[in-house]
Amino acid sequence: MPELPEVEITARLIGAAVAGGEIESALAPGINALKTFDPPLAALEGRRLQRIGRRGKLFVIELDGELVLEIHLMSAGRLQLFDARASLRDRTSRFLVRLNDGRELRLREFGTRQRAWVKVLRAEDLAAEETIAELGPEAWPDPPPFADLLDQPRPLYALLRDQHVIAGIGRSWVDEILHTAMISPFKRGSDLDDDEADRLHEETVRVLGDAIAHYESTLSLPIPDKLPMPLTVHRCNGEPCPRCGDQLEAVFYEDYVMCYCPTCQTEGKLLKDRRLSRLLK
Ligand SMILES: [Zn+2]
Repeated sequence: MPELPEVEITARLIGAAVAGGEIESALAPGINALKTFDPPLAALEGRRLQRIGRRGKLFVIELDGELVLEIHLMSAGRLQLFDARASLRDRTSRFLVRLNDGRELRLREFGTRQRAWVKVLRAEDLAAEETIAELGPEAWPDPPPFADLLDQPRPLYALLRDQHVIAGIGRSWVDEILHTAMISPFKRGSDLDDDEADRLHEETVRVLGDAIAHYESTLSLPIPDKLPMPLTVHRCNGEPCPRCGDQLEAVFYEDYVMCYCPTCQTEGKLLKDRRLSRLLK
């Protein structure tokens, strides 16, 4: 599940390696992976890769000639750089950018669903592109104060992952952030007092920044298929809380799990296990 720290480190590592590289051709073997048709893929030929940036969980790859590639990994995609071209039998390939030095920038997706996507845009159209235009402020490094930003009667667990409210946080890092801030995932944004809003802001910046620093010190190219995420709460249900030592609990949803420490975050209260309540209906 790539979120802001994973996209950031991927953009940094691959961006540094490919800067200045010239594109020979681009291919979109994934069904519906390419979401635009104008400019056409052939417009990428002969362009140089200038910079790989990030907005929220999206990659923004700048090319010379005022073209931009926007890439969304969704839940199971990876952007990787290879020294040789993909076999056409590689069923994970969604979008391939072949450089004329033989290397290949590859959008791959693991699992059965094909959801990752690419848009080829003119640079001047990027800011108005809907997925970019609708994004909230960046969660890292310098988001605006949370008292106003999160002043909505919705649970923080949903609010912090809403890319329109704040960009970059998903299911993994939201558990870590709420745990270190010692706030319940089901507390409503509008119910945060000033101290809590400040603490949550501070922990958001710190947790995401620490994750990026961890990747900076441990990762190098090639980016592995499965990034070793330094998580201490998410998917750690049943294990001891890293702060108080009590057992971490979880709420199970259809496709994912939310983890928290009752002692540190919910005054000892166990939140409803949706899986269990469904079985008991
Ligand atoms: Zn705890």
